[in-house]
Amino acid sequence: MFAQRLAQVSESATMKVAAEAERLRRAGHDVVDFSVGEPDFPTPEHIKAAGKAAIDANFTRYTAVAGVPELREAICARYKDDYGVAITAAEVLLTFGGKQALFNTALALFDPGDEVITHAPYWPTIPEQVKLVGAMPVIVPTDWRDGFAVHAEAILGAITPRTKAIILNSPANPTGALVDEPTVAAIADAAAKRGIWVIVDLCYEHLIYEDVPHNLPKVLFDRHRDRTVLACSASKAYAMTGWRCGWTIASKELTKIFNTIEGQTTSNITSVTQKAALAALAGSQAPVQAMRDEFRRRRDAIHAWLTANPSIQCVKPKGAFYLFPNISGLLTDAVRTSTDFSQALLEKEHVVVTPGEAFDAPGYVRISYAASMERLKEGADRMLRFAESLQPAKASASR
Ligand code: PMP
Repeated sequence: MFAQRLAQVSESATMKVAAEAERLRRAGHDVVDFSVGEPDFPTPEHIKAAGKAAIDANFTRYTAVAGVPELREAICARYKDDYGVAITAAEVLLTFGGKQALFNTALALFDPGDEVITHAPYWPTIPEQVKLVGAMPVIVPTDWRDGFAVHAEAILGAITPRTKAIILNSPANPTGALVDEPTVAAIADAAAKRGIWVIVDLCYEHLIYEDVPHNLPKVLFDRHRDRTVLACSASKAYAMTGWRCGWTIASKELTKIFNTIEGQTTSNITSVTQKAALAALAGSQAPVQAMRDEFRRRRDAIHAWLTANPSIQCVKPKGAFYLFPNISGLLTDAVRTSTDFSQALLEKEHVVVTPGEAFDAPGYVRISYAASMERLKEGADRMLRFAESLQPAKASASR
């Protein structure tokens, strides 16, 4: 009855936990929600004001499919400032979030039978979109013991004659890991020799907490500019998830193809959003800095609280706003998987976390620290109490 292309595509694995959390909330329970994938901060005032002014000025009609020129210019200026790379407006196209930036890319580049390499644990949309256009995701695992580092040899070892593209996500959801510059350089060099596309999801590019080099746009443009796609977003950096604003940066030729796809599907992103995004990108970056500083404080706090229990093994993430602890040391005969763990934690302590199975990483849970320090403390206390309650059960189970 439904199109064949959906046969292989999964629904979000987080739905079940979310539905159960909603049920508990409605029943009046105090649920601590660590599953949230968006900043808890409001959109900064000057950005909201620009959106309101756009409505009042009746800036409410269709725009150019790619977005208004001044916004595309502002994106070029931002990347010049941030990374020292020269981009022209003809290489930029606005999308409904980073999600559509990635989907336009998948539609434009991948054919049935193509293989697309990415790294796990992954944000599920990445492989699901590959499948949605009939191509095949090829997953390269990473290991928490070296901070979920992506190794160039592992990625390059997965290349076959059918490889069309490599998708990197840095900082990554759910691990918070960065792909380092030498790794990206080695991948780009090898990809350039074989004509393989390199796509980088930079959705969390402004949420990096360590002072480490992360100029992936320059590394890629210096080596492989014609076959690089940057998929970017205003969602996380500017607390603008609901406005739906992302963009691609790619060659003029590919941007023309994106223009055709978007022109025949959604048309331009919301006119009012474009004016707000212009204020975000061209205006003061102080709010970004303030949110980043607060996220860093929260990361440090919740990481310290939870790892007080040595069975919660967790690297300190370098970016994004998630902890991704390995909780396999807490599993028991009754609580066998991270899905069981998440379910039992929700039932007993009313804390919502996302089970690692959603990210191809059984044995882990994802904890979003996009919540106030008070809620983080409350949730961490409950999680520690829950972990304690599992340990005696485990000891007796092994007797
Ligand atoms: N990439 C990653 C890794 C994400 O986690 C998300 C959002 N959860 C996105 C892209 C897309 O977000 P948006 O469409 O809001 O820009």
